[in-house]
Amino acid sequence: MKSYCPACGTRTLRPLQGGDQRIAECRHCHGVWFEDGSLNCAITGHHDHIEHYDHEQHLGPKLGVSNRQCTRCRVPMTHYQLLADYSVEIDCCPTCDGVWLDQHEVDQVIHSPLLKDALAELNKKVTWKSWVFQFFTAMPVEYNIQPHRTPWMTWLLIALCTLVFFSGVYDAGSNEWIFLNLGLNSDSPSAAHVAMQLFTYQFVHGGLMHLVGNMYFLWIIGDNLEDALGHWTFLGLYLLSGVVAALAELMLFDASQGPLLLVGASGSIAALFGLYLMWFRHASLTFMIVIYQKKLAPHWYFLIWSLINLFGMFTAQGGVAWAAHLGGFVLGLLIGYLMRDYVLAKNPLIAMLNQPEAAISR
Ligand SMILES: [Zn+2]
Ligand SMILES: [Zn+2]
Repeated sequence: MKSYCPACGTRTLRPLQGGDQRIAECRHCHGVWFEDGSLNCAITGHHDHIEHYDHEQHLGPKLGVSNRQCTRCRVPMTHYQLLADYSVEIDCCPTCDGVWLDQHEVDQVIHSPLLKDALAELNKKVTWKSWVFQFFTAMPVEYNIQPHRTPWMTWLLIALCTLVFFSGVYDAGSNEWIFLNLGLNSDSPSAAHVAMQLFTYQFVHGGLMHLVGNMYFLWIIGDNLEDALGHWTFLGLYLLSGVVAALAELMLFDASQGPLLLVGASGSIAALFGLYLMWFRHASLTFMIVIYQKKLAPHWYFLIWSLINLFGMFTAQGGVAWAAHLGGFVLGLLIGYLMRDYVLAKNPLIAMLNQPEAAISR
């Protein structure tokens, strides 16, 4: 039996073939009708860890009377916002408790328990703990969703950088060997040496603060990026970015100042910043002005960060590889832009949080 579609008003609504008979799809607009209770079944069926979910308990504010009519009762439906922090609008029948969803809303509603948890996490206010942390370390606190995968590659990269640093720190001889052989030296004896050093320089750091600063950023943003990309793609992009950042520095360094010695993970991590900026608009990083701590969207945080870097490049402060930083960052933005559709298709939750419907409070 066919019934009327609440959106098109034509007799194009048919029960889902082979599925739950209480769910009907419109052949014309592909919106979906859920009879009382069947939406809850569809939601729990998609999430193994949820045994019982009553979407009505989680609905956002009531928006008023809808101009659509219930396909069963022929009375105007009621318009609700899906979640308080997610402005998808859905129609519910006040009489039979049926729910109508337009085609593009179905995925968001099915995943609404995940969205609700994620938004609660993202919209947390800064606490005195985050204030104390940033006041004493000058490092930002990150607010982002929890990764599903264990970030093995991120941990491995951190472990290798730390190992290389501490194997040189107690002994001047081995430290010199590390800098000469693993750092990137523009006057290395052969092209093969330089080719190897394009990779190894990423694991060498010049001082404890250089190491700690880089490793902290790798720690907070690497886990989400590795989760979004998969372990090996993440590692590949990280190493490739380091190579490109070094090439940028090799091309732009001032040879009259003597040969170039480049060390550090900064170029690779700058590329991770670029990726993060393109995929995690919903995340926040805290910024501290003297004693006032504020959650900032990644693009604001990185804008300020880039301005500081540009300023450094033009005033040519010695010791920091500004060209490598900016080269890595620009590469990250480019890769982030090119891979955005692929990454969002692979990570539906990240895609939904990137929609303008997601309300992030900062
Ligand atoms: Zn329709
Ligand atoms: Zn009804």
